[in-house]
Amino acid sequence: MIRMRFRMPSSFGFALLVLLAAPGFGAPPVPPRARNIIVLIADGCGSEQYTLARWWQGQPLCLDGILVGAVKTHIADSVVADSAPAATAYATGCRTGDKLIGISPGGKTLACVPAPAPEQTFAPLATVMEGARLLGKATGIVVTCRIPHATPAGYLAHVPHRDAYNDIMKQIVHQRLDVVFGGGKRYLLPKGIEDGERTDGENLLEFLRTTGGYQVVETREKLAELQSGRAFGVFASKDLEAEIDRAEFGPQQPSLAEMTGKAIELLAQDPDGFFLLVEASQVDWAGHANDPAHLLGDLCMYDASVRVALEFAQRNGETLLLALSDHNTGGMSIGNYATSDDSRYAQMSAAELLDPLRRMSCSAVALWRLLGEERTPDKVKDLVRSRWGMEASAAAVARILQLAPTLKSHPEYAIGQVLSPEHTCIGWTTRGHVGGDVPLFAFGPGRPSGLIDAPAVGVHCAQAMGLDLARLTARLFVDAEAAFGAGAVTVEPEAASGPVARIAVGGRVGELLLHTNLLKLDGATIPLEGLSVYIPSRRRLYVPQQAVELLQRNPGVALPSFRE
Ligand SMILES: [Zn+2]
Repeated sequence: MIRMRFRMPSSFGFALLVLLAAPGFGAPPVPPRARNIIVLIADGCGSEQYTLARWWQGQPLCLDGILVGAVKTHIADSVVADSAPAATAYATGCRTGDKLIGISPGGKTLACVPAPAPEQTFAPLATVMEGARLLGKATGIVVTCRIPHATPAGYLAHVPHRDAYNDIMKQIVHQRLDVVFGGGKRYLLPKGIEDGERTDGENLLEFLRTTGGYQVVETREKLAELQSGRAFGVFASKDLEAEIDRAEFGPQQPSLAEMTGKAIELLAQDPDGFFLLVEASQVDWAGHANDPAHLLGDLCMYDASVRVALEFAQRNGETLLLALSDHNTGGMSIGNYATSDDSRYAQMSAAELLDPLRRMSCSAVALWRLLGEERTPDKVKDLVRSRWGMEASAAAVARILQLAPTLKSHPEYAIGQVLSPEHTCIGWTTRGHVGGDVPLFAFGPGRPSGLIDAPAVGVHCAQAMGLDLARLTARLFVDAEAAFGAGAVTVEPEAASGPVARIAVGGRVGELLLHTNLLKLDGATIPLEGLSVYIPSRRRLYVPQQAVELLQRNPGVALPSFRE
């Protein structure tokens, strides 16, 4: 473990410290404690999208009543954020680099972001969710994407790339949350079973049901029947349907608000409180697709989910609720080049804005799926007329069919990019993310306010629970070579029976199953309080301090505190 040494400050230094700690001199005051924390993230959403949703609903959003400030979103190595480092900042209180999940940045950072010391690059960072669990709180996540997608991964996993879905899913399974609702069943199943994607042969769905002790549910009806206990809901092989498509294409899937309500109902039974993460994952995807129909369905359902959480927080009185985005996507605007003239924009009626959107009856994803393999101009034109209520010109249809094949795994992005500017008043500046501040909404004891930095969101959540994230990291992620010596540690990241690390101490060998919390020692399999994580680029193994104590035969030693 790392012990911090403090030199007694001189009287001048002490006076300065007191001044610096006083309100208004830099460090924000420590927030009062909250028994429960609910973080709701509308992935990829800026201020303009909320305004559009308000016009669409014809009444204030639930969010409108709890607007408190804004968040600066840049990441360690880019002015514009990706969801993986953005979620990592919210979860760990540390700003990291593009695509990284729950680990420190590498050496290359923006001038305004200090680079970590060489031995700290890509080192795992403990998350508020891991801390909440060690405090005895119930923990849960609710998402509309695959469960191992970037935002939930930022709170629960430690890997060098967000696309390592199989590794991330394994880590999430072994984080032993109380409630997990979302999609991504294929990442729980081995290849050969249904459309399983796992290459390590593991059947994690079976593990959840048996060793994990979870109630596994796969439909909206079974979700509604849950009354207590641990629950793992996988409602889609990959991602859930867009909200606008759910009734037609995924009627067995629950809505985000239904999952949020059930998660709170289950988690709130824990007398120690709970930490819940809710993500409207596809607001971001709608932005990438320049698709107002997908956006409005998912964003309004997000607002309904915030209402469910807010009503609980208001009744409960000990719940801190944060609702925010990780970045903006698509650079959406109310008004576009077609409305450039003041005879258009300065005369825009609500009907002019909303009528074209009301004629759209499915997402671009569903429209492309309905198109199938036979992508003729006539079929595109007919579908756009019947499902989006637009009379697409021959030139527009040609542009869609020309653009789509260049967009690799997302050909459907072409539909919104071409048609939205021509047939709606909505503008888009990009198919990617954009770098502006995002609105911050909050309610409850010690809610933050003003313009805050993305990592401050994680620090705020930690302080509200009485958690010291640096000490938690020191307890959960010990550099194994530093603890045991280089000769004692061997790692087989590609072992056929699953990635494993072996540590030899005093004639015994402990086997740490990577991406899990399991230690095999003296013929027993011991569940540890944290995961074993291997960082290939630095060839570094990180294990919980608890594993160090067990291997060194110090099981009676009290583990260092991670509390403030
Ligand atoms: Zn995105």
